[in-house]
This record gives sequence, structure tokens and C-alpha cells, in this order.
Amino acid sequence: MPDWVVHIAVAWTLCRVLRFRYSQFNPANTALVMVGSVFPDAVKISILLDLLGFDWWDYIHVVHLPLGAFLMAGIAALLFEEKKTALAFLSAGILTHFALDLLLIQLDNGIYLFYPFSWMGFSLNIVPNDDYHITIVALLVALFVYLLSRWIKKNYPGLIND
Ligand SMILES: [Zn+2]
Repeated sequence: MPDWVVHIAVAWTLCRVLRFRYSQFNPANTALVMVGSVFPDAVKISILLDLLGFDWWDYIHVVHLPLGAFLMAGIAALLFEEKKTALAFLSAGILTHFALDLLLIQLDNGIYLFYPFSWMGFSLNIVPNDDYHITIVALLVALFVYLLSRWIKKNYPGLIND
């Protein structure tokens, strides 16, 4: 959290803005960043398992740590022909995830960025976890960037990548 809508919206917005300049942020790679941005929240599978009566929280929690998330990205990248590119863009998405999560007011110790080397938790304690205004703002910013890119494309074709 913030919820997956925010993670995906921010990932898309960043990629769209970067694509103005860098053609590498094409739709395929943008999709990888968006998938990477929700990778750490695969931890939510444990909620499902909980409902089925399995208490796997302690095992699955590792995917919401940078270590586990990047490991998952490494494994997922093996499925791609261009493994390094896939890993790079998935990792970029994971970075956006933790950057956003760091903004949150943490009820526990924060994010263990340097696990397994340190159990120090990090958090900037700025945004409450249940503030849905964030979702609306993230979606509005994404919409604005989308409309802006369309407008530039129409009026100044060739100025930006599309
Ligand atoms: Zn998270």
C-alpha cells in the first residue's frame, strides 16, 4: 500500500513522461514497470491463503522486502528473451513501489530496506495508509499526462516519442 491503483498509475505516469525523451519507455517496457510496481504486493496472496486456513504470512512477507521483490523479478526475467531489459524495467517498477511505500505512515517498523543485513525499518511517515485522496490525485495526474501527450502529438508531431 498505497493501493495497487496508485502504484500502477504512478508507474505508468513516470514511464509516459520519460518516453517524451527516451524511446526505451515504449508500451511493452512500460507494462513491465507497471507489473514490477505491484510485485511486492504479491504479499497479499497470504490474505487469500489465510482465508483458506493457511498461515503463511511469515514466509510470504519476504516478497514485500526489497530482497524478495528483486529475487522475484530475477526469476520472472528468466521468462523473457531479453532478460536484462526485463529485469531492468521490472526492477524500476519495484523501486517505484518502495519509494511510494516509504511515504506512508507505518503502523509497525517501516520497511526493512537492508534486510538481511539490517533490521532497521525505514519510513517517512507522511501519508496515512487509508487516504484515498492519494488514489484520486494519482489518477488525475495520469489522466493529465495522457491528455497532454495526445495534445502534443496532435499539435507538434515528432516532438515526442509516441
Ligand atoms: Zn507495498
